[in-house]
Amino acid sequence: MIESATISNNLDVYSLRQQFPALDRKVKGKPLVYFDNAATAQKPQVVIETLNQYYTQYNANIHRGIHTLAEEATAAFEATRDTVRQYIHATSREEIIFTRGTTEGINLVASTWGRQNIDKGDEIIISTMEHHSNIVPWQILCQEKEAVLKIIPIHDNGELILEEYEKLISPKTKFVSIVHVSNALGTVNPVKKIINIAHRAGAKVLVDGAQSAVHFDINVEDLDCDFFVLSSHKIYGPTGVGVLYGKKSLLESMPVYQGGGEMIKEVSFKKTIYNDLPYKFEAGTPNIADTVAFKAALDFVQATGKEKIRKHESSLLAHATAKLSEIPGLRIVGTAKDKTSVVSFVMEGIHPQDIGILLDNQGIAVRTGHHCTQPLMDRLGIPGTARVSLAMYNTMEEIDALIPGVHKVKKMLS
Ligand code: PLP
Repeated sequence: MIESATISNNLDVYSLRQQFPALDRKVKGKPLVYFDNAATAQKPQVVIETLNQYYTQYNANIHRGIHTLAEEATAAFEATRDTVRQYIHATSREEIIFTRGTTEGINLVASTWGRQNIDKGDEIIISTMEHHSNIVPWQILCQEKEAVLKIIPIHDNGELILEEYEKLISPKTKFVSIVHVSNALGTVNPVKKIINIAHRAGAKVLVDGAQSAVHFDINVEDLDCDFFVLSSHKIYGPTGVGVLYGKKSLLESMPVYQGGGEMIKEVSFKKTIYNDLPYKFEAGTPNIADTVAFKAALDFVQATGKEKIRKHESSLLAHATAKLSEIPGLRIVGTAKDKTSVVSFVMEGIHPQDIGILLDNQGIAVRTGHHCTQPLMDRLGIPGTARVSLAMYNTMEEIDALIPGVHKVKKMLS
């Protein structure tokens, strides 16, 4: 581990790092520098311990059992729902639906609200910078319903062209699905404004919070979004758990997603009566252990202090941007005024994949490729980028280690 005795913006990063065991390992004989946080974040010890405790102490199926283990597991599972409600400032715990992740949350909305409300000729708006998981479900819906998918264009710096968005809005617009923070560019979109414009036209809005929920204080009430989706694994929690927030009245009006146990009140061969919210959308045995441990991750983030984390990550972003910009032949992709925690770059004459492989040889983990945003890469006229994405435990020293690493790549390949 690269030692950092620094207290950055009142955040004791060195102590913080001690709580993430994976950061202590070596890769190719070098201390690991983990810069792939937008793909998934490392997990603090408390999350790992919570998983361990669940399986060693109170592993049981939830909701139906009356024995002690079932009651303990149910209480822990439902406690996560309460923590999520508070974390995103939702009004009611009934508005918090557990999913497998952001992808499933979007698919759920497309195949329930979408199937119920989208008709032939209706229009759905997304943007050029969406992750594939916020493109393909809407394409499937549009194909099925003969609806039209409209795309908000972007400026070369990776900002949305809001005037063009306003022009796309019409009486036919039924839904807007927009990413809060771009995973490929780090652009922070003005979602509150986007929601407001959509609502004036009577359209509903989903915010893809996969990249924002870890960095910002999310207030779904204040945003007034109709749906908000996120993934636990990007907020230092386990994989396989996500959240769909929906306004209660909307969730109530939507048809069910999957059928099975848990989502029913009563079943007969003639008729099935569905369960109340939130269980109506949670068919089958959920991912109990990982959901329970997700609470530990959210508690950890809140105890560390979101504001302190945000300031530290801002300093890291500024430092990484400044240092990488100094390298001749390197171009940063995505230079929006409002950015967070991501620096994507290309290097003259060098394929992004080669950058990734050669940095990995130096123990530095970055992501390379199209970042599941192929239409965005097409718009920018590049096959992909190398992406440095930052988390609360990254240090200035790690960024300083990246720079000679990139110079080395350049020397070897150009
Ligand atoms: N949306 C964005 C902006 C993302 O960055 C990601 C994952 O990288 C997703 C959606 C999909 O998240 P998941 O794979 O956790 O479902």
